Amino acid sequence: KQDKPAKQEKEVPNELGVTVNKDQDFSGWYTQAITKAEMIEYYDISGCYVLRPWAYSIWESIQGFLDGEFKKSGVSNAYFPLLVSKRQLELEKAHVEGFAPEVAWVTRSGDSELAEPVAIRPTSETIMYPCYAKWIRSHRDMPLRLNQWCNVIRWEFKHPVPFLRTREFLWQEGHSAFATRPEAEAEVLEILEIYKRAYEELLAIPVTKGKKSEGEKFAGGFYTTTCEAFIPATGRGIQACTSHCLGQNFSKMFGIEFEGVDGTKQLAWQNSWGFTTRSIGVLIMVHGDNKGLVLPPRVAPTQVVVVPIPYSKGSGDDGALAKRAQTDIVDVLRKANVRTQLDARANYTPGWKYNHWEAKGVPVTIQFGPKDNDNAQCVAVRRDTGAKETIALAALATRLPALLQEIQDALLAKARAQREGRVTHIRQWEEFVPALDKGNLVLAPWCEAEKCEDSVKKRSGEKKAANEAAEAGFRLTGAAKSLCIPFEQPALPTGAQCFACEAHAKSWTLFGRSY
Ligand code: AMP
Repeated sequence: KQDKPAKQEKEVPNELGVTVNKDQDFSGWYTQAITKAEMIEYYDISGCYVLRPWAYSIWESIQGFLDGEFKKSGVSNAYFPLLVSKRQLELEKAHVEGFAPEVAWVTRSGDSELAEPVAIRPTSETIMYPCYAKWIRSHRDMPLRLNQWCNVIRWEFKHPVPFLRTREFLWQEGHSAFATRPEAEAEVLEILEIYKRAYEELLAIPVTKGKKSEGEKFAGGFYTTTCEAFIPATGRGIQACTSHCLGQNFSKMFGIEFEGVDGTKQLAWQNSWGFTTRSIGVLIMVHGDNKGLVLPPRVAPTQVVVVPIPYSKGSGDDGALAKRAQTDIVDVLRKANVRTQLDARANYTPGWKYNHWEAKGVPVTIQFGPKDNDNAQCVAVRRDTGAKETIALAALATRLPALLQEIQDALLAKARAQREGRVTHIRQWEEFVPALDKGNLVLAPWCEAEKCEDSVKKRSGEKKAANEAAEAGFRLTGAAKSLCIPFEQPALPTGAQCFACEAHAKSWTLFGRSY
């Protein structure tokens, strides 16, 4: 397959604010939102992007939360090499088959061919586990629970989407080895819950926890658990992060053996789990609006920006006003642990500044003008609702942290309500594609058979279905697949049949078109 040239992706007009309507042209909106907010710079290799400080700072917030939770749980950080030999990469057969098409190889150094090409990690099971085999001898060496923060390369051929589907992305990958299956399985769920909290508590995005179908699980794994998010603007689901139980598949191939309590030789039970910069894309898509980004306060690099409004025609001392904005607002808020910035640049108008910070998604703008100065007050404007509130300067240190929490909660509640209104319960195939075409996720009784899932993909991807979706206003069409079998299951009626093949239904399963 041919690479698409990277330059097709950019063309962004020069105006300050976002000029494309999110509902009318979602992908045009997304491109503008991420560039005008100074999140992304495009690059001349397709699928690779520059993460500018505004985006990287959000990643650092996510890192801070996850890293703290992992460490509380007993996980240590380490770093393993970027490159993997062909021999190690190909040791676990199902794993290499799953990843082979996306693996990038280094074949040359300068002018000379390498005697043995080496691969760039698409994930690090095959890099880390030879070490695990050396380090684990006895049940006393376990659990071994390591995490690394790094980049990986997966040479995807689907159309790249900044953050969501990129060829190089940043992530953390956790890898553990346990003596027993129950311990491994408990960790799978413990990590998944940390991931869910990162999405809900930090990014204000509701997710559904569940298990992947056999066809959708991690290549070479035993089973995969996932958090599935929803993008209301396109009606698509997205795999937000995954926590895999690898069973003993890898320990068998890599020889991760130990002497059990009873003196017998046993194979380790293993897990791996990952959370990537995709999460930032989900954040932008879920909360952003026609003016640009809307950032939840917990991850906003700047939570409050203070804009002094000058006196008209030199009727007062602008310097003194800006100085008071610094001492009585910025310094006070910083002391109250609110990430606050003063924008007193003389060469831009207040209107320009409002647009600029709105596009970047700063949760609260504080306007401070001559009248406010006289009355020892300021006006706080919420980015999410546009609501204005006059606050006495003396009350700032208590009111602003509370306001930020209200915004954080409101964003989650709004996203939750949007999502809940868009999950349709169905029982029969005839209802399936029409429900997807309305931009919904679908919860349906399902047989869980791999063959049935293949047929669902095929039938829902047929042209007729795509045309109907386009007519309904959802331009992102295509085949639907299972997203997860949710852990929280409504009661399945006795004798319920699979919505797609009428075999015995095993569970309510979440289906959708997805990224
Ligand atoms: P995996 O190791 O395949 O389970 O991937 C871990 C997580 O990475 C997935 O659950 C996705 O959320 C995310 N992910 C997968 N592919 C990409 C990509 N190309 N760009 C960004 N994130 C990705």
